[in-house]
Amino acid sequence: MSAADAVTDSLHRMRAEFGDLPGGRPADYIPQLGLADPEAFGLALVSMDGHGYSAGEADVPFTIQSVSKPFIYALALSVLGLDEVSRWVGAEPSGDAFNAISLEPGTGRPANAMVNAGAIVTTALIPDTPGEPAFERILRCLGRFAGRELDVDEEVFTSESMTGDRNRALAYLIRATGTMPVDPVLAVDRYFRQCAVRVTALDLATMAATLAYGGLNPVTRDQVVSPEVAARVLAVMSTCGMYDGSGEWLLRIGLPAKSGVSGGLIAVGPARFGLATYSPPLDTAGNSVRGQAALRALSERYGLHLMLNP
Ligand code: GLN
Repeated sequence: MSAADAVTDSLHRMRAEFGDLPGGRPADYIPQLGLADPEAFGLALVSMDGHGYSAGEADVPFTIQSVSKPFIYALALSVLGLDEVSRWVGAEPSGDAFNAISLEPGTGRPANAMVNAGAIVTTALIPDTPGEPAFERILRCLGRFAGRELDVDEEVFTSESMTGDRNRALAYLIRATGTMPVDPVLAVDRYFRQCAVRVTALDLATMAATLAYGGLNPVTRDQVVSPEVAARVLAVMSTCGMYDGSGEWLLRIGLPAKSGVSGGLIAVGPARFGLATYSPPLDTAGNSVRGQAALRALSERYGLHLMLNP
């Protein structure tokens, strides 16, 4: 079997092994997400030579949700630099749920850019330019990471917008602590729109591979962000990407990762690969049950833990 066939084969095997794994439920606090097919299970890997491998429902579209957070953090770092971004949002794991009031005592900054509080601020930090409003910039940036033009699922956007009072409350609380750069209503609207951008598992694997490759998209050869920015994003993903499951994830799987409530999950093998899974049933921390199981098995079987095989 060729090396390429072996990769495809192992993704298919993961799908067969974990496709019936019970447990978890699709998120339904955003009503539209509750309509997702719980049986959909897609896996994809993109290598540094730009090759895409996939199994199962890797072409099924879903909304990116929190998997957008590292990429918009990358955009903010590129536009404003680390020192300026760090004035507004920290880099410590919160140890709390994704939607918690994770604000640092003293400064009032959100704990990190991977939880909602920090992501709302990161999104708000992206300035409009004369030719391009901030959200268009965000959408174009996500598209460059994915290597194709992306769009917004308006139904999911409206669904979250109508039910997103907790995020709205967070945004107002952040303004009260003095760390909200724009009007909270505007910040949250832009954040909901960003979360509703439509992707597939294969898109997410390309996006993850771009971070793995020092900010260079290995499929389109577009340098989306600098190697320094990509490295900083991976650092924060390592410690904060899986919310209050981040420590356990780094301990066992040993790869920078990021999950989202629609069931997407990415893991990055620096200078090696971008991996992504899509499976909607989530555990209580808001992470995909089957996605985590498959990535854990891949890490164990192929020795992907970074501290083991740097
Ligand atoms: N849009 C979702 C929210 O803010 C994203 C959360 C997530 O994916 N964990 O609640």
